[in-house]
Amino acid sequence: MPAATPTTAAPAAPALRPVPSTLPADDTFDVIVIGAGIAGCAAAHALGNDGRRVLVIERDWREPDRIVGELLQPGGVHALELLGLRDCIDGIDGIDCHGYAVIKTNGEEVVLPYPADKQPNTGRSLHHGRLIMNLRRAAQNAQNVTCIEGTASELVTDPKTGVNTGVLISTKTSDKPVLASAPLTVVADGCFSKFRKQFISRDTVCKSHFVGFIIRDCPLPHMNHGHVVLAKPSPILLYQIGSHETRILVDVPGKLPSIGSGEMKAYMRDFVGPQLPPAVQPSFFEALETERFRSMPNSWLPPTRNTGEGVFLLGDIMNMRHPLTGGGMTVAFWDVVRLRDALRSVSDLSQTAVVRSRLGALHWQRKRLSSVINILANALYALFSAGDDPMLLQLQTACFAYFKLGGRCVSTPVGLLAGLIQEPMTLIGHFFAVAIYGTFLMWIQGPFYMFPVNFVRSFVVLFKACAVIFPLIGAELRP
Ligand SMILES: Cc1cc2nc3c(=O)[nH]c(=O)nc-3n(C[C@H](O)[C@H](O)[C@H](O)COP(=O)(O)OP(=O)(O)OC[C@H]3O[C@@H](n4cnc5c(N)ncnc54)[C@H](O)[C@@H]3O)c2cc1C
Repeated sequence: MPAATPTTAAPAAPALRPVPSTLPADDTFDVIVIGAGIAGCAAAHALGNDGRRVLVIERDWREPDRIVGELLQPGGVHALELLGLRDCIDGIDGIDCHGYAVIKTNGEEVVLPYPADKQPNTGRSLHHGRLIMNLRRAAQNAQNVTCIEGTASELVTDPKTGVNTGVLISTKTSDKPVLASAPLTVVADGCFSKFRKQFISRDTVCKSHFVGFIIRDCPLPHMNHGHVVLAKPSPILLYQIGSHETRILVDVPGKLPSIGSGEMKAYMRDFVGPQLPPAVQPSFFEALETERFRSMPNSWLPPTRNTGEGVFLLGDIMNMRHPLTGGGMTVAFWDVVRLRDALRSVSDLSQTAVVRSRLGALHWQRKRLSSVINILANALYALFSAGDDPMLLQLQTACFAYFKLGGRCVSTPVGLLAGLIQEPMTLIGHFFAVAIYGTFLMWIQGPFYMFPVNFVRSFVVLFKACAVIFPLIGAELRP
């Protein structure tokens, strides 16, 4: 099977204008954005174009090389359209994505297209660093946006009012941190945020890591689709991110095998490789000899209401979910759409109480999308990383069989995953439909005399389904 054709010609790395590490003389700002990543760039672009004077602080403006944020769901593409940033996914050798293929290690598979009746219904897989550079260029070229290279080292609070008034920035050119002031600071410093602890008391939960590397010229079974291999003990993702590059992300629960000692390579060779589709194996084993392994924690952080005065937490600092379904960027871009819309009617951002009330209200408004993506990602991960748990395995089997039914059993769950259907109750309905279908499958399996045993076991499976989903729902419902 040939590789999927890229959407546009090979990339020419977009050049940014040089970013200074000093503040301009006239340094009055309405908004400071910390972090020129996925969320920060989109926010700076949106707020700058709305007439706010924005300062973006980024510690490193060079193209990042990371294993995150490489598949944008159609719902994320839609958010980019609303933000006027749709062209940021073009011209970087990205690959259109029309849906997913879920593949068992015995070769059985089911293809899950994005729903035909929704628009846009095509996602894009791409090199993360190239997307970031396009977003940074868009932010830099937006009206009223000033960029600075430096590390935000401290949030500055007015001791009398408790309102955040600015940020101290450590730069290469100054011995002392420089102070930037603004009535609103948007903190978008990502998953390893240094500011999170100041605002969020709960810890992030990390049960596994994704270990990733590039496979060159990999013949994937289904062109223009993300692939999920239901491997043991947990899933493997494969998707093409450029004309010749395919990303593999192997979920590794618990402690990571050491990369330096060669344990990781042996794990990949002896345990992971044999579970991959046969067509993928030759290029996978070749890549093991040449490519560098990288790992990232797969963290879960339920959302927290933004209550800080003069400060707004955006992106991974505030909310994370397992990256199995590739939903993080979609959530971040939609949060920017909502942030922009919430502030549109506020003429003066130093009206702290008005701003706090508008931004606090986003906590519930964003849940139509974010709860769906958060719950779905973590629930699917629980099922797909069943290991040897017989009840979870039964739910995994039920989920696969449910997808095989086709029709709405595919289009709605995939529409939810894609960020195209923003209805949490619909998600919960389908989750329990899977669980009930699983109980039905248990009743009809095995000889007739096993029915009483299977009948009882089916209730244990239902109980397990509740144990998976209720904590996830509960975490989303916290005020
Ligand atoms: C393994 C993995 C795979 C993933 N795959 C996908 C996927 O396929 N699709 C998807 O939608 N999502 C995916 N995600 C999630 C997605 O990557 C994140 O949700 C998204 O990148 C969050 O954007 P952000 O702006 O919050 O953070 P980031 O994009 O990480 O941006 C943070 C920025 O802040 C800067 N910064 C940090 N600290 C400071 C400081 N003190 N001062 C100045 N600058 C600072 C950093 O340099 C960086 O540029 C994945 C996540 C993981 C872990």
